[in-house]
Amino acid sequence: MAQSFAKGFYNSHAWLASRKRYLDAVVDTSGNILVSKERDGDIVYVRKDDPNETPVPSECVIPPRMCERCFKRGELTPAKVVHHIEHITPENIDDPHVTLRYANMQRLCQDCHAFVHSGQTEPRVTFDENGNVVPKNESLQSMIERLTETVDESRNIYRSKR
Ligand SMILES: [Zn+2]
Ligand SMILES: [Zn+2]
Repeated sequence: MAQSFAKGFYNSHAWLASRKRYLDAVVDTSGNILVSKERDGDIVYVRKDDPNETPVPSECVIPPRMCERCFKRGELTPAKVVHHIEHITPENIDDPHVTLRYANMQRLCQDCHAFVHSGQTEPRVTFDENGNVVPKNESLQSMIERLTETVDESRNIYRSKR
């Protein structure tokens, strides 16, 4: 629910137009607005503000109206809100650099929006029923495997030298 000091802002034409523009945009995983270009018969996406028009890797291209936080976890979930990364306060409500700048906007689904306002940090591990640490996601799991392998390797090298 919008707080009372922000009601006028959330009903303003400027916000509603910017919000819709951001919801409908293709963005990258950092929230930059992308535009499509034809390159050798293919469609590529480039940052709107990139003079070199370097194509953004396709795994970083978020389709319109999809939650940015879910996308980074490999899920496509329709976004329900456009959130302000730097939260809106009575002090900055009249500063368009905070309220209307696309770089300060983030498309989120209801669950992700609740999460980012809960003040929790991203959980990196969970615990199994025996209280052992279990990595939360695949990349951390593979990182641990890689590090374990490196340790095993150095142990073997150490042993073979003795
Ligand atoms: Zn989400
Ligand atoms: Zn928010």
